[in-house]
Amino acid sequence: MDLEHPERRGPEAERLEPGLYVVATPIGRLSDLGLRATDVLRRVDVVAAEDTRTSRVLLDHIGARPTLVASHEHNEARAAQSIVERIRAGQRVALISDAGTPGISDPGARVVAAVHDAGLPVIPVPGPAAVTTLLSVAGFTEPRFRFEGFLPARPKARRDRLAQLARSDAVVVLYESPHRIVETADDLAAALEPGRRVVVGRELTKRFEQLHRCGAAELPAWLAADPDHRRGEFVLAFDAAAAEVSEVQLADALLDALCAELPVRQAARIAARATGLRANDLYRRALALRAGREEEAVADEEDVEADEPPPVSGSPGSA
Ligand code: SAM
Repeated sequence: MDLEHPERRGPEAERLEPGLYVVATPIGRLSDLGLRATDVLRRVDVVAAEDTRTSRVLLDHIGARPTLVASHEHNEARAAQSIVERIRAGQRVALISDAGTPGISDPGARVVAAVHDAGLPVIPVPGPAAVTTLLSVAGFTEPRFRFEGFLPARPKARRDRLAQLARSDAVVVLYESPHRIVETADDLAAALEPGRRVVVGRELTKRFEQLHRCGAAELPAWLAADPDHRRGEFVLAFDAAAAEVSEVQLADALLDALCAELPVRQAARIAARATGLRANDLYRRALALRAGREEEAVADEEDVEADEPPPVSGSPGSA
């Protein structure tokens, strides 16, 4: 945290220069709107919103009265030009979407790119997004994730995409609508190993918020068990694919076990019969593994010696 930041003196101490403020808004609970986001939305000249009626509710809630303009999927190129002109004329413009972070499975990227291209400032005001909200409570130990957003609507394209994602070595995060959640759950159950961990976040931060963790094979039954499980907004994540054990790793493990009981040549011959690899290669590998282990053992011994306290001079018990 930057303790010298003007925000230490309260968010109002931040000077609001002309520029585009990309402001994240709540994904369900109004009180999740951050202090800085509230301050910026109250002080900008213009708010460009995906749906002006939806955003009016939020702005009224915090007593903000900016000029509200529409910037959505269908008018983004035109809206971008007019926003650039406003900033050039010295205005402060906030960009918001219906919920969460603009640009995350939402419009916004074209406006942001146009402001960058015009050489004008783009300032992030971060906050909620369904993807990070789910990941924060999912409990996956794999730190990397891949944000996929919405899968293709057509069944074949969706299944093909899932077959690729099933091999991901990072956690995969999906957005899904209530209309397609059942089909997606069936496709996930078919594409993933039965026990692959899936976490479902339903209506996160809202009144009927629900988190469910299960194996991929159990997801369709959980959805079928209660009509409420199929209602509302969904974000899902599934765990990374288990790392494949390479041929070399397998051969090393086998050689290790055999060398502990047998002479190296004999161990290499048996490992060759078991793996189909060449006995000579395995022999050399076994020697290299043994040499590596001996080096490690010497290094460990040196570490222990370095950690030991220096010998005490004088007889035991002397002061
Ligand atoms: N920009 C948003 C964000 O930052 O997460 C996402 C917008 S995208 C059009 C809407 C989708 O996000 C929903 O269909 C759902 O998949 C997911 N989503 C949004 N709010 C959610 C919530 N409260 N709980 C679960 N998923 C949510």
